[in-house]
Amino acid sequence: MTTKLRLHRDQLSAVARVTPYAMAGYGVNVALATAAFWNTIPARDLLLWAFLSLTACGIVGVRSFHRPPATHDRNPDELRSARNALLFAVLLALPWSSLAMFWAGTVSGTSEAILTAFVVGMAASGSILLAPIPAAALTYAGTILGPLIVKLLVLGSRENVVLGALAISFLVFLIVLVMTNARMFMERLKVLERLRVSIEDAKAANEAAQRATSAKSEFFATMSHEIRTPLNSVIGYTSLVLARRGLNAEDARDLEIVRDAGRSLLNTVNDILDFSAIEAGRLKLLLAPTLLRPMIESCLSLMQVEARAKGLALSAEIDSALDEVSVEADAQRVRQVLVNLVGNAVKFTSEGRVDVEAKWLRRSEDIVAIRFIVKDTGPGIPQKSIPELFNRFSQLDGSYERRFTGSGLGLAISKSIVVAMDGEIGVQSELGVGSAFWFELPLIVSRALPAIERSVEARPASPGGLNILVVDDMEPNRRLTSTVLRRAGHRAVTAASGAEAISLAKSETFDVILMDMQMPGMNGLAATKEIRKLPPNQGQVPIIAMTANVLPNEIASCYAAGMTAHIGKPFEIDELLRTIEAASDGATASARARLPAAMMAGRKPL
Ligand code: ADP
Repeated sequence: MTTKLRLHRDQLSAVARVTPYAMAGYGVNVALATAAFWNTIPARDLLLWAFLSLTACGIVGVRSFHRPPATHDRNPDELRSARNALLFAVLLALPWSSLAMFWAGTVSGTSEAILTAFVVGMAASGSILLAPIPAAALTYAGTILGPLIVKLLVLGSRENVVLGALAISFLVFLIVLVMTNARMFMERLKVLERLRVSIEDAKAANEAAQRATSAKSEFFATMSHEIRTPLNSVIGYTSLVLARRGLNAEDARDLEIVRDAGRSLLNTVNDILDFSAIEAGRLKLLLAPTLLRPMIESCLSLMQVEARAKGLALSAEIDSALDEVSVEADAQRVRQVLVNLVGNAVKFTSEGRVDVEAKWLRRSEDIVAIRFIVKDTGPGIPQKSIPELFNRFSQLDGSYERRFTGSGLGLAISKSIVVAMDGEIGVQSELGVGSAFWFELPLIVSRALPAIERSVEARPASPGGLNILVVDDMEPNRRLTSTVLRRAGHRAVTAASGAEAISLAKSETFDVILMDMQMPGMNGLAATKEIRKLPPNQGQVPIIAMTANVLPNEIASCYAAGMTAHIGKPFEIDELLRTIEAASDGATASARARLPAAMMAGRKPL
């Protein structure tokens, strides 16, 4: 509907809204006029007049109840209503103009004054009510007052001429009033219309942005899956070959390069996914009582391998208060920021050392601030680049760091995490001397004790290993997983589809099932639901999702389908075996111990 038509419709509906009340008033005035002229005008004429007036008023009143709803887009009706408005105006004006035409000058002076008052009053009130449709308002006022003016002037007596002149000046006044009102009304409508158009535009823009965001999320999910699937083979098979005995040093170094490149690509994919989740406001903190010292130490031991390989000293000074008091924190996210800062320090420093400090600053009885500082003897960062550093995709222009891989998202993600925790992050740096990245988090001292990780070694071992069903539609994945499992002392049976998995689960009892999610035909979720329907012996088996679908909603749908745990692909061998142990209640500790150490050294993806 065009703006012009919409404005037109608003004009009509403004009048239509008051019409029932106006008609009620009109009826009362007809009754009052009939009473006022009962002794002056012959009863038959007066009653006929009253009858015709009330009929006109009735027709308009009834029609006004059947008007099209103001929100309806019915253009032809609008046009008909506009014509009707003019017709109705004439219809309602005629009784009063006939009153003037027929009886002005024929009745006594007082009655004539009363008659003039009625006619003028009706002209004034009606035209003001009709002002939103100026054509109807002016037609109405003109139809009522025109004949009165003509009649009074024709009658010619001084009083009548004065009355006529008064009626003319009143008509002029009414015209000015109607036009001013109409202009103000139109201006208001136009402002409202502009507002409505802006709201509609904003809504449309919002919807388009939402569509774009969900298309982007879908794209990220697909890309992440498609990149992870081949990386699973790259990282998994190089780890397997590296674990073989008798590999010559040069081949091992070459393979390590392939594996590390795979891991670095995986980190980039993880960074991009993380960043898009943060950008879409989906960063959720999972607060739990946490002891920070073990978390910091595990971070450092993760980095120690890389630092040593570069000949860097990596040391930590952790405030002793961190040993005793636990805090409410999202350990995974704090760890992510620390790993990122230490990882950068190790990556960009070619000689010297990297020192990590964790300081405990008590703010009040319940609140502490933990300040982490990561100092390196690296190249330093030019002062002018520092403000940009925590922005996304920011990498310095200098030549030195182009030798290193990275998405340029690490610091932006770290900043988002720290800010989400109400903390602060920053850096002090001097070119040629080194950098000190720091972040400070206000944390609540926890009253509860942190959940203590169950010691794998303490659990009873299953001497013969576990009977594990590996379900995956891709042969390289099936072969990789079953080789890892067999080397760890388990028995691995494979299925290439959901349907095959169900029939194997029916005929054999497994300790654990590793289930891929995306498979042609029946997918992992549907297969899990079917297996859960089997008798308890087969139906209660722990099912671990082992999939390149790693987004939070995808993980949630695994649990909703009845799965026990989730491992993302590419998987780290250590993580896979730990998850199997946890799911099967620790029956594989001895199996894990049998695995070659080289296979276990893999860095867990961030
Ligand atoms: P990435 O490391 O993936 O490139 P980051 O956001 O973690 O992305 O870092 C952005 C840039 O900041 C790096 O590319 C590097 O230029 C610079 N930078 C970060 N940490 C250091 C450091 N410790 N020493 C020198 N430069 C650093």
